[in-house]
Amino acid sequence: MNVLWALLLGTTSALAFEYGLEANKINEKVYCFFGKPEVMNETNNGNMVNSCYADTGHHWIVVDPGPTYAYAKEAYEKMQSIKQMPVAMVVDTHVHDDHWLGNGFFKAKGVDIFGGSLFKTEVNPDAKTRMQKRISKKAYAGTVVTLPTHYVDTIYRTAVDGEPVQLMALSHTAHTAEDLLVYLPNMQTLFAGDLVFNDRIPSLRDGDINGWIAALAKIRKMPLRTIVGGHGNAVDRHAVNLTYDYLVSLRNAVKNAIDEGVDIEDATRTIQLPAFSGIALYDMMHAQNVEAAYRTLEWEDE
Ligand SMILES: [Zn+2]
Repeated sequence: MNVLWALLLGTTSALAFEYGLEANKINEKVYCFFGKPEVMNETNNGNMVNSCYADTGHHWIVVDPGPTYAYAKEAYEKMQSIKQMPVAMVVDTHVHDDHWLGNGFFKAKGVDIFGGSLFKTEVNPDAKTRMQKRISKKAYAGTVVTLPTHYVDTIYRTAVDGEPVQLMALSHTAHTAEDLLVYLPNMQTLFAGDLVFNDRIPSLRDGDINGWIAALAKIRKMPLRTIVGGHGNAVDRHAVNLTYDYLVSLRNAVKNAIDEGVDIEDATRTIQLPAFSGIALYDMMHAQNVEAAYRTLEWEDE
């Protein structure tokens, strides 16, 4: 190989963006990459979301392939170094783009990608993504908006290597209008997507506070050992508590304000939940959550 060519190859690989991802083994069969409790920016480059791999014996199942092509590739390569086996399926838990922009990496490998039908109407493949606007060009390089190859709107049951897998689409709005849960009953493991945030205040912007609380109440009754959220690294059955407690407190406070005749502007300005004010992103998310909750709850007493 001539020297110039060797230098060029060296330069090209040095240019590829690396996140420095670390796989965390969370039970006998499941590994997760945990993102930071932040919103996407040019420093974290989208590494503010969780992406997980479940071992079914001879395959991996990927839940949320992450925010970019580079992220999906790096996580995949990390997992191959732990156990070399193909990916049987990728599941996108919902349409927020920090969770699924890594789809393109797996589509190129011919992997089946599952998601809710909301992708068909909510995702415009020609528009700039939120991620694209907010992270560095270098980290985003190679990322192509890639829709699921299979749509699930109720329950889809399958098995991989004999391991039962259930994809369960919620029939009502919770975190978004269509949230998809991944349930591995033999492993007593549930991937709850963004129904569960356990290290930061959740965003109610596209959600419904009543539907979200109802979904979490159901999850709390399931026979689970491991619950993995879309954000945060708590993974036991108490992982739902932060989101659940915050949303219930928020609902009570907003209902009281509505009952007392407080209008939406004053409610948004004045309702605070001091028990949660020390949680990451409270200052950024809480006021908009009050407003979103108010818009849902103000119709209840009519
Ligand atoms: Zn989300």
